[in-house]
Amino acid sequence: MDDDTRDDRMAFRFDCGATWLNLLATSGRTFSTHPVERLATPERLAEWFDRCELAPARPPGPHDLAEARRLREILRPLALATVDGDPPPPGPAADLAALLAAHPDPVHLLTRHRLLREPPTTPTAALARIARQAVDHLTGPERHDLAVCGEHDCRAVFTNPTGRRRWCPSPACASRGRVRALRARRKAETAAE
Ligand SMILES: [Zn+2]
Repeated sequence: MDDDTRDDRMAFRFDCGATWLNLLATSGRTFSTHPVERLATPERLAEWFDRCELAPARPPGPHDLAEARRLREILRPLALATVDGDPPPPGPAADLAALLAAHPDPVHLLTRHRLLREPPTTPTAALARIARQAVDHLTGPERHDLAVCGEHDCRAVFTNPTGRRRWCPSPACASRGRVRALRARRKAETAAE
């Protein structure tokens, strides 16, 4: 059963609770046999950066697109391990450390009508900023508020400060999960009769 349209599936999600979590969500149904790649082109990455207020001075090209997807798949296993209380997988942890070391990101503040950070000059700098945000989140006390979507093919990581959500904020996951729970309950009731 899949009634979401292609446009819905390709739409970016900004509801996971942090920019780096929304980067993870640029891949949909990641653990299914047909994952949805929402960062399909450099132009889509440019659009995503823009919507995250991280538009770099130089627009992204194909190499940057590959780097964005690479960072996403470095962060994903580290986030899942953190939520599950497991040790970080060594490969991604080493990759992340190397990336941070290669791309220092000093904070230059601009004070105009509001407090601003100087925009990233390159797509790589924008990604380095997201990597640092992920590290701060995963190593600080906010990590306790992270949760994983209960849909096995989704496993999106999202902030769940109340601890009450069983599914990520995607309406598709909650509805699929509820339908399955209802079916299971009916089956159990039929079996008991
Ligand atoms: Zn989900």
